[in-house]
Amino acid sequence: MLYDNHQRLINYVRLAVTDRCNLRCFYCMPEEGIDYVPKQELLSYEEMLRLVRLLASMGIEKLRITGGEPFVRRDMMDFLRNISQTPGLRQIHITTNGTTTASLVPELKVLGIRSINLSLDTLDEKRFWEITRRNEFKAVMDTFHALVEHGIDTKINAVVMEGKNIDDLVPMVELTERYPVSVRFIEEMPFNGEGSHYQVLNWHHRAILEHLQAHFPSLEKLPDPPNSTAYHYRVPGFKGNIGIIAAYTRTFCGSCNRIRITPQGMLKTCLYDSGVFNVRDLMRAEASDAQIRDTFLEALGNRAKDGWEAEKNRNFGIPVGESMSTIGG
Ligand code: SAM
Ligand code: SF4
Repeated sequence: MLYDNHQRLINYVRLAVTDRCNLRCFYCMPEEGIDYVPKQELLSYEEMLRLVRLLASMGIEKLRITGGEPFVRRDMMDFLRNISQTPGLRQIHITTNGTTTASLVPELKVLGIRSINLSLDTLDEKRFWEITRRNEFKAVMDTFHALVEHGIDTKINAVVMEGKNIDDLVPMVELTERYPVSVRFIEEMPFNGEGSHYQVLNWHHRAILEHLQAHFPSLEKLPDPPNSTAYHYRVPGFKGNIGIIAAYTRTFCGSCNRIRITPQGMLKTCLYDSGVFNVRDLMRAEASDAQIRDTFLEALGNRAKDGWEAEKNRNFGIPVGESMSTIGG
């Protein structure tokens, strides 16, 4: 089992397989996109397989594939078929924008993908276009229905954005009346690729909860699973549930069990740090598994205690502002 220097169990890795994306969600990327990493700088599939096998041998049990949009990377399904055979890895999850995922759902089910997080910030087609700057609402809804139909555990990720989708919060809760899905409202973070953010975040987790309680007075608290980043609720009688994620307020760092690998192979021991070491460079310098393992252990022995400390320690004080598509959420 892997522990960090604050005695937190580390058993979960989030692997961003690409920084490329076919949407331009305004909270994640500027309209003109970002400078994508040249292909040869991305971790290759072989490198990712080696890395995941190594991490699984060290105690990582849960893998999330994210991006960018994972399914815009060519041969993604071949990679999933390979990675699903990794000894020791108990759970594979995927975060996707759902634009090209619907037809893949039957095979994702066969591969045993444990859950899919589908990003969907609105149920209104026009607002979808305003938020993502692309006309893909119908494709995403097709994915939603395919996931429900195939009985894959589905979480809807909805970023709560002042002035953009507040009118969607109640309809999104109503979605849980008919469907057994978890709708998770996420505080907007400053990772929009432009370095700008609200001076004050008005739609923080308490404000979101108050808004929901005003519309659903019977909303009840559910127990939160260990290491959960979400506070869970449900409306009695509804099939699904609600999560609220204090991603900006950072209330969950004390039980954080996850690390992140960026598309270029940078290890982030916190979402808010600027990267600790590059595992791709080690591999390409022909480091042995034992050397890579030791480098991970050293990094986990120096982990910031929370996201505020990690942000303060960022290299050269660079403010948080990169695109979330280079991190994976
Ligand atoms: N493209 C895939 C998708 O959108 O699901 C996976 C990558 S995306 C970067 C992962 C998650 O990060 C998405 O659920 C997205 O909503 C969330 N995200 C992106 N930028 C964010 C921001 N500035 N604040 C909060 N969440 C953000
Ligand atoms: Fe693409 Fe996901 Fe970022 Fe939207 S949130 S631009 S879908 S990477």
